[in-house]
Amino acid sequence: MKPRKDKRRIIKMGTRKKVHAYVRVKPTDEFAYEMITFGEDNKSIDIHIKKDGRKGIVNNQQTDWSFKLDGVLHDASQDSVYDTVAKEVVAQALDGYNGTIMCYGQTGAGKTYTMTGTTENYKHRGILPRALQQVFRMIEERPTHSITVRVSYLEIYNETLFDLLSTLPYVGNSDTPMSIVESPQGIFVKGLSVHMTGREEDAFSLLFEGETNRIIASHTMNKNSSRSHCIFTIYIEAHSRSLSDEKYITSKINLVDLAGSERLGKTGSEGQILKEATYINKSLSFLEQAIIALGDRKREHVPFRQCKLTHALKDSLGGNCNMVIVANVYGDATQLDETLSSLRFASRMKLITTEPAINEKYDAERMVKNLEKELILLKQELAIHDSLANRAMVTYDPMDEVQIAEINSQVRRYLDGSLEEIDIINLRQIQEVFNQFKVVLSQQEQEVEASLRRKYTLIDRNDYAAITAVQKAGLVDVEGNTVGETDGQGFGLGIAPFSAKPGKKGKFKKSFRDLTGPLTKKEGLLSPVSLKDGESLSTSRTQLLSSSKEVDVKDVPSRDREASSSEPIVSDSPKEDSRTTRPSTPPPKLSAFEEFKNERGSEINRIFKQNKTILNDRRKKASETAQRINSIKREIDTTKEALDVQKTFREEQGEYENKGLMIIDEEEFLLILRLKELKKQYRGEYQDLRDLKAEIQYCQHLVDQCRQRLLTEFDIWYNESFLIPEDVQVPLKAKGSIKLGLLPLSKLTSLAEDDEDKFGQIQSSVLPDCPESVSFYNARMKLDQKQSYSKTMASFQNKKPGPIPAVLKEKSTSDYNLP
Ligand code: ADP
Ligand code: MG
Repeated sequence: MKPRKDKRRIIKMGTRKKVHAYVRVKPTDEFAYEMITFGEDNKSIDIHIKKDGRKGIVNNQQTDWSFKLDGVLHDASQDSVYDTVAKEVVAQALDGYNGTIMCYGQTGAGKTYTMTGTTENYKHRGILPRALQQVFRMIEERPTHSITVRVSYLEIYNETLFDLLSTLPYVGNSDTPMSIVESPQGIFVKGLSVHMTGREEDAFSLLFEGETNRIIASHTMNKNSSRSHCIFTIYIEAHSRSLSDEKYITSKINLVDLAGSERLGKTGSEGQILKEATYINKSLSFLEQAIIALGDRKREHVPFRQCKLTHALKDSLGGNCNMVIVANVYGDATQLDETLSSLRFASRMKLITTEPAINEKYDAERMVKNLEKELILLKQELAIHDSLANRAMVTYDPMDEVQIAEINSQVRRYLDGSLEEIDIINLRQIQEVFNQFKVVLSQQEQEVEASLRRKYTLIDRNDYAAITAVQKAGLVDVEGNTVGETDGQGFGLGIAPFSAKPGKKGKFKKSFRDLTGPLTKKEGLLSPVSLKDGESLSTSRTQLLSSSKEVDVKDVPSRDREASSSEPIVSDSPKEDSRTTRPSTPPPKLSAFEEFKNERGSEINRIFKQNKTILNDRRKKASETAQRINSIKREIDTTKEALDVQKTFREEQGEYENKGLMIIDEEEFLLILRLKELKKQYRGEYQDLRDLKAEIQYCQHLVDQCRQRLLTEFDIWYNESFLIPEDVQVPLKAKGSIKLGLLPLSKLTSLAEDDEDKFGQIQSSVLPDCPESVSFYNARMKLDQKQSYSKTMASFQNKKPGPIPAVLKEKSTSDYNLP
């Protein structure tokens, strides 16, 4: 996608300025010297009419007028007119200020001469070609900027818009009439061709093309060129060549040749003339109104849209642009009333203040590029910081799917406890971790709800219609409690934790029976909601209604995936006795495990716990011994230091020697004795510690084995109790194979051959600091093995053989043709 150019626009307010108003008097041989006089400052013009002058000139009593303007251009060359009137406006346009120059006056007074000049004589060229020349000259003087120039030429005749440059070969013919459109970028004429000009010469060609069209149109369309307004617009856009500069400026210069201001409709006009007159008079007076309104700060509404002229010039009149009015007048006495009228207009314009402002915009494309550059720089900077802080392998790029999946897995592991903490890498990763927490949470909520929905009909607490219906049916009372439960045996469908029910030996299945009992009596009974608001299940807003005939303990989301995914595989009819004792859905493994430990696994569990107690005891002892060793070591050190002090003292005093024997004082002697004793203690304790360490390793091994055995037994028990159909179990039981007998501890320690190898490896790797114990434990292990082997054999012969049915687990789903 191509970045759109930014529409934001900054307008820098400048100081307030007045509209500049000039008067240009057309040279004449019959200049009315007695009536028109100019002030010495060349800025004022006085009109004096003799009281009993010719009839019809003025219709009021006033005979003297004085107009103060910004300049009087009398006998002024095109050159000086341009310098006075236009030069500054054009110059400021290149700095971003819009500018408008208008010629106002009666037909023949020199508006077109002033604006366009004669196209035959270069010297007599007007403001328009000179402005183009100045623009291109200034562009040359500004190599720091890339400046584009475009032009358009619009004619407004009888409130209709004409494109004076539409005849150019590359301008597509458009049948749709042009219209004035307001957009965030400003006002523009839809359908008006705008032409890019790279050179002064091209710009001139465009100007001449427009002039020619203007004259041709006046013939072919029978329209009087002096009755139309012509607006030649130069559009400027300046971008700094320094790419870091994101700002750019736009401006336009409107050069307006207005229609003749003479009051046409006065007498006898009809038909087209009347129409023209009406339009001109109106548009010129609207122009005046608009400019006056713009100058009035208190006015909120400026009537731009009253006519095409003001609408098209909306962003180029008064307000925030530089504005110049040239009143073109005759110097002849005969034209004095129109001259007066034009001067009045000019002086009114002069009072108006404007506040020219720069049109500054932001180049979005450039901004993006610059920000990208800065980003790269900052990343490099970060990389340097990371390498200084030894934080290798940290990237700051957006995460890809694999990385996000990894974080998701980390979060899941963190939640189920298999991951202790999630390392912080960077901000992006932290954000993603939080994000994944959200994802996992919502998935879990959905899972809970889905599993509830599989079992129950959920009614939204806010769904009053449904609740009323249920209440009407008499299934729940107003509070939402089940009707008809007087014995208190109704139970929540939601589901007391499995382990929470009273369970002693053999209670497991019984308790299921207890639970299902009342419901087999009252099929389809609605149960009260046992979930209280505020409980963590997201469905707490909904009521639970049983839709299944058989209700059993529902599994809460278990951390054990196996359990939560295992679907009931027993399809049984509640009427058959033997099967009503089994739940249709296996209980969650975690709670079943608790049950198992109290029941069939109690013996293994007892042994397991015993071993664990021994292990913990040995660990505690080892730690105590280690502490003792440390304190002995400290004492040895202090004793040594004291002895050293004594020795130095003795040496300083001069040693006593008696027949080759060194004589020491009692204090030093006691210290030596103490040191000897401590060293002995140290050796003893150290030996104890090494023995303890060896024992700990061994006990740990036993505990691990026990745990493994406990889990295996549990799996078998679980399959038997909940998963394998009982009719399948019968033949198996006949062969006495599927029920594992409880094996004594010694059996649990009977190791397979490779286990033995492992044990040996462990011993030699973890007990290097007490090699003497290895042989001891090797011997002990062999003895245990021997004993366990004979015991196992005996139990096989006497009682049920106890093959470990790892095979059974596999068979349970494939070989038994389960439904
Ligand atoms: P307008 O456009 O106001 O109707 P024009 O500019 O067409 O008037 O002027 C009418 C005629 O007078 C033209 O032939 C023009 O060359 C001439 N003219 C106007 N002003 C001057 C001037 N200052 N010096 C020389 N000739 C002029
Ligand atoms: Mg004209």
